[in-house]
Amino acid sequence: MKTIIANFKMNKTCSQTKDYLMKLVSSYDGKNEVVIALPYTSLALGSLMLSGKENLKLGAQNLADEEEGKNTGEISGNMLKEVGVDTVIVGHSERRAKFKENGKSINKKIKIALKNAMRVILCIGESELDKKCGKESEVLKKQLEEALSGLYENELERIFIAYEPVWAIGTDQSASMRDVEKAVKIIKGVVKENFSKKAADELNIVYGGSVNTRNANLFCGCNGICGLLVGRDCLDANNFLKLLSSISK
Ligand code: PGA
Repeated sequence: MKTIIANFKMNKTCSQTKDYLMKLVSSYDGKNEVVIALPYTSLALGSLMLSGKENLKLGAQNLADEEEGKNTGEISGNMLKEVGVDTVIVGHSERRAKFKENGKSINKKIKIALKNAMRVILCIGESELDKKCGKESEVLKKQLEEALSGLYENELERIFIAYEPVWAIGTDQSASMRDVEKAVKIIKGVVKENFSKKAADELNIVYGGSVNTRNANLFCGCNGICGLLVGRDCLDANNFLKLLSSISK
């Protein structure tokens, strides 16, 4: 079974999300798990519409790095949990770049999500400049070690590492299968060094960055890849259903 995560980003109002989810819920009967990561304003609606639907899970795109208190405009882990969120995205490159999220904050968010019994999608990935300078390995190692610091090995079961090279996000320039398999090796190497070989072998790694209906199945076939994180190509329900069925075959 693969896990396909749809990242809506800052797209769709509640009523648009309702139409989308109606289509998805009535048409999707595949065997792969699908996580729909909605904006905060649509989570309650999503929770109602996805409740009891096998293989369709509710996701959020972020959470606060503190548990409660004086944080105007933020949303806490227990708020997400209570509304029915199953999985939360942490450390997306857009948040690292635009909202200056750092490793320490990402680490706190992961711990809060796990404490609230949610699964985590931890996004990591090198920039175009890092790649040009041959720094992929260094960057992935730093991002991973900061994010996973202080976690127990058994907590890794509830984390998906999303390898999302920044240069491949929103660009139509997806990574090659070779790039992805190279990143998988680096990621597993870091986890082996910091946890154990068993943890590295069992790690959940997904790929994201310009995934579309033509390449989704190819990426799902990469060694060590257990799913995908999809941005633009999840936003049209019919297109996303097509992408999902391309993987099921
Ligand atoms: P994209 O976005 O599929 O539009 O490249 C992926 C992501 O940012 O998660």
